[in-house]
Amino acid sequence: MILDGKAVAAQIRGELKLRAEAFEQSYGRRPSLAVVLVGEDPASQIYVRNKIKGCEEVGIRSVGRYLKGTATEEEVLAAVRALAEDGEVDGILVQLPLPRGLDADRILRAIPAEKDVDGFSAENLGLLARREEGTVACTPLGVMELLKRYEIPLRGKRAVVVGRSNIVGRPMALLLLNADATVTICHSATRDLREECLRADILVSAVGKAKLITGDMVKEGAVVIDVGMNRDENGLCGDVDFEAVSKKASYITPVPGGVGPMTVAMLLSNTVSAAERAQTK
Ligand code: NDP
Repeated sequence: MILDGKAVAAQIRGELKLRAEAFEQSYGRRPSLAVVLVGEDPASQIYVRNKIKGCEEVGIRSVGRYLKGTATEEEVLAAVRALAEDGEVDGILVQLPLPRGLDADRILRAIPAEKDVDGFSAENLGLLARREEGTVACTPLGVMELLKRYEIPLRGKRAVVVGRSNIVGRPMALLLLNADATVTICHSATRDLREECLRADILVSAVGKAKLITGDMVKEGAVVIDVGMNRDENGLCGDVDFEAVSKKASYITPVPGGVGPMTVAMLLSNTVSAAERAQTK
């Protein structure tokens, strides 16, 4: 069965629209997201455009801050700090990657945790690790939401996450752990990836290598989530050899149309939540 991220994301956007309307009625303004884009990277421009389109669709005000690729670190920092102090901005997103020479960590640290709608900050990742309320990174949060909407049980299941980045693999593993799965994290130094993956009831791949996960690495009936976004001769593809793996999996996400749309929906959701939290604090 296909886990249809596109359809679920559309449903979530419908729900967010109602929350954004209720927010506006209560507080006289819409929730708002500021997007900082530095430079002219074509992929980043597309991502930013999609995020802004998503905002419009659900009634979130978007504020674009576009800086030239030649902008200095101090200029970018000044833009982020101004947004951090703006009481009408609820969420701030700095589109990555930043041009060479800019210290992304330093710039991201200028976003206050309560406006960090990407959930990348040390504070938000720490809150997740401690099982306390905070903002969770959009991609792993989207995976959890997808599993929840398809009523896939996690408690006591063996989950294997391939990839350990701070923005996908690591928070993904923590979320599955917090949902009472027994979690294994694999990475580039894992000795026998096939053996680890074969044990998974829930397999999440977040690596960025086409066809890394082949049919012989997946247990019959496993739930397979493909976070990867790669390009091959046919265009966009994930980490999973879909044709072979879909014959064995009970549920599988397609690429495109699986995790990607959920990520954008969770960004919008995190923005509305940040706006609501700021008002009720
Ligand atoms: P990173 O490059 O930061 O992390 C990749 C991870 O994969 C690392 O932990 C790395 O291990 C591990 N890895 C690399 N090679 C292997 C291997 N052969 N076997 C096992 N593990 C390996 O990537 P991200 O986490 O940022 O993104 C992962 C993928 O997800 C990318 O394709 C990205 O485009 C996609 N993505 C998709 C999103 C969506 O919305 N669908 C959103 C965000 C990302 P090590 O730590 O040892 O180096």
